[in-house]
Amino acid sequence: MSIELPEAKILADQMNKELCGKRTTAYELKNYESLQKIGFINKNADVFQQLVGRKVESVQSRGNVIRVKLDQSMNLILGPEYGGRILYCADGKNVPVRFNLRLEFSDRSILAITLTGMGAIQVFKDSELEQSYVYKRDFSDKTSPIDVRQFTRDRFSKQLAEKNVNIKQVLVGKDAIVVGLSNSAFQDFLFRAGIHPKRKASDLSKEEANALYDAIKELITDRIKLGGKNEFSDLYGKQGCYTATMGPNMKGKACSACGSPVEKLSLGGGQVFFCPKCQK
Ligand SMILES: [Zn+2]
Repeated sequence: MSIELPEAKILADQMNKELCGKRTTAYELKNYESLQKIGFINKNADVFQQLVGRKVESVQSRGNVIRVKLDQSMNLILGPEYGGRILYCADGKNVPVRFNLRLEFSDRSILAITLTGMGAIQVFKDSELEQSYVYKRDFSDKTSPIDVRQFTRDRFSKQLAEKNVNIKQVLVGKDAIVVGLSNSAFQDFLFRAGIHPKRKASDLSKEEANALYDAIKELITDRIKLGGKNEFSDLYGKQGCYTATMGPNMKGKACSACGSPVEKLSLGGGQVFFCPKCQK
């Protein structure tokens, strides 16, 4: 149950609504030692004590990462991108048994955060934020595809035209021109745009670049509107309703548009499903 840009945005908006102005009264860390060893949680667990007594000022997301900004320059950075759950329990009841971090607020409400895959639960002061790999990566000067001022049609097609490399490399991963697009989103919007995954970015026609731009925007909008992917649960435990139009869920199936058998190829360190007929 990965949490990518649309899901991180849903959670951040919900957390912003529920947590702003509230003061933390207690915290508990559980089953966190193995996560510390691989750098997902601060090496010094005592830093979590600094969250106690702080007031939540805002919650925002960028890419796959959520920043909970507290007073006195404190931050809780959450990036459960390869699997995790963030749950809000308004009355402090029905808190899940399994969690890694539990935060309690002055009105007895509780936030329970669990990592089930690679990700981050980190505490940093404003001046230390660059030490967080996920924060540094996504709260960067790279374009965010949900920022209407940054992600413009002209800028996007110009950037594509400059890259004489495979389209996936341009859109997903550390060298991408945008933040927050995953391999799973890549398969989905490429199918929507009718573009073959092996194409080079600079080879796309103006029409194809436009179709790709629209597909990325539509995919993110649809996923947010439908409450996230269907394996995702929001802050209140409500399951998302978005099913990918192309991806591992199409394995062994016929293309929804033309009926051709969906194919799979290995690309950029991951598997990509596509329709050989609809995607040129
Ligand atoms: Zn097809």
